Amino acid sequence: MRRWMSEVKLESGSRPSPAANATSFHLQPALMLVVRQLTKSYPSGGRTLTVLRDVSFTIPDGAFVAIVGPSGSGKTTLLGLLAGLDTPTAGSVLLDGAELGALSEDARAKLRGEKVGFVFQSFQLIPTLTAAENIAVPLELRGVRNAGVRARSLLDRIGLADRADHLPAQLSGGEQQRVALARAFANAPRVLFADEPTGNLDSATGDRIIQLLEELNRESGTTIVLVTHDTALASRAKRIIRLSDGAVVDDRELAA
Ligand code: ADP
Ligand code: MG
Repeated sequence: MRRWMSEVKLESGSRPSPAANATSFHLQPALMLVVRQLTKSYPSGGRTLTVLRDVSFTIPDGAFVAIVGPSGSGKTTLLGLLAGLDTPTAGSVLLDGAELGALSEDARAKLRGEKVGFVFQSFQLIPTLTAAENIAVPLELRGVRNAGVRARSLLDRIGLADRADHLPAQLSGGEQQRVALARAFANAPRVLFADEPTGNLDSATGDRIIQLLEELNRESGTTIVLVTHDTALASRAKRIIRLSDGAVVDDRELAA
C-alpha cells in the first residue's frame, strides 16, 4: 500500500508545494479556481429548471476541498462546470487564471489535457479496452511516447500489474476505480476533480482511494476537488462546501 502511494508521488512531478512557495515569497498561494455567480438552468417542459444558482467561491492552489449535499443538489453539474466539461447559463469560472467561458471548445479541451484530471461518478472506463489501454489511450492522444509502457508502470504502482490485460467487466468496482484514478493522474494534473470516487466501494477499498488522493494533494500539491455524500470521507478534506438545491449553504475550513 505505502509502496504504490510513495511512487505515485515521484511520478507526479517535482513542482514545489504551494505551501513552500507561500513561505519563500511571503505570498498566499495563487487561486486555482475562481467561481463567480455560476448559474446553470435547463429548459424543462416550457419552464426553466435552475439546478445551480449564483454559486461563488474561490479555491487556492493546493487545496483539498469536498463538495457535499443531497442527491440532486447540483454537485455533479457544478464539478462539470469547474472542469470546463460543461458551460454555464450565467457566471464564470477561472481555472488557473484562464477564463473558461472565453475559450473555444478546443482550447478548453487543450487546457483540460494540460492541467485537469477528472474521475467520473461511473468510472467511465471504456468497456472494450483493457485496464492498460484505458490509461494509455488518453496519453497517446496527447502524444506521450511509450504510453503503453507508462500505463503498465502506473498499474504496477497502484498494485494492479496483474490486471493490466483485463477488461473493466473483469475487474471489481474498487479495481475499476483505481484504474480510473490512475488514468486521471497519469498526466500529473494541477487539479483533480473526483465525483463520488468511493461510491459503491467497501470502506477498506474506499479508504485506499482516499489515501491516494491525500498523497497526491500533500506530496505533489495537486488541488483536489471531491464530490461525496460520505461524511467520513468529506471529513478527510480540509474544507467542506455544502450545496442544497443548487446553492451554497455552508462553506467551512476543517480544523487540522
Ligand atoms: P447531484 O450530483 O448533486 O446528485 P446533479 O448535478 O446530477 O446533482 O443534478 C442536479 C439537478 O439537475 C437534478 O435535479 C438533475 O435532474 C438535474 N439535471 C442534471 N443534468 C440535467 C440535464 N442535462 N437536463 C436537465 N436536468 C438536469
Ligand atoms: Mg452526482
